[in-house]
Amino acid sequence: MLMQFERCAWCSDFLTGSEYAGSAICDACIRELGQVPDLTVNIGREFVDNLPYGNIVLNPEGKIIRYNATEAEHTGYDVSKIEGKHFFDEVAPCTKVENFHGKLEEFRRTGQNTQYLFKFNFRHPNFSALVSILMTYYRNGYTVLSIKKIRDIET
Ligand SMILES: [Zn+2]
Repeated sequence: MLMQFERCAWCSDFLTGSEYAGSAICDACIRELGQVPDLTVNIGREFVDNLPYGNIVLNPEGKIIRYNATEAEHTGYDVSKIEGKHFFDEVAPCTKVENFHGKLEEFRRTGQNTQYLFKFNFRHPNFSALVSILMTYYRNGYTVLSIKKIRDIET
């Protein structure tokens, strides 16, 4: 089977021979969840809320369809208020730069499953931090952002 993704979109671990590689979710996470998640619907909410990292799912229009509790703790946002909003335009304008929004646009143009691991200075009104981001782009247009905080930075 063609290995489409290298890493788990949730925990960032390498996918080693997962038969569910097309989902980009590792066997361990799938075992925890009890099923292969369909990222286009709001499934496994409790599971992603309990992940130690930020987990954000964007639909093909760039709107947030899931924003987990861990990320909300970091940013101070009220999940119920930002789900449904446009991530790049309304929630995190600091990400509308070449090395974030630009990359996603590039992946969208190629229309292929793609993963991109990079470091980014997140600048929210309430917090600023250097983070490591695993961007998993699915060819159906959905994107999962797995966000690990490295350290706070000066605002
Ligand atoms: Zn995993």
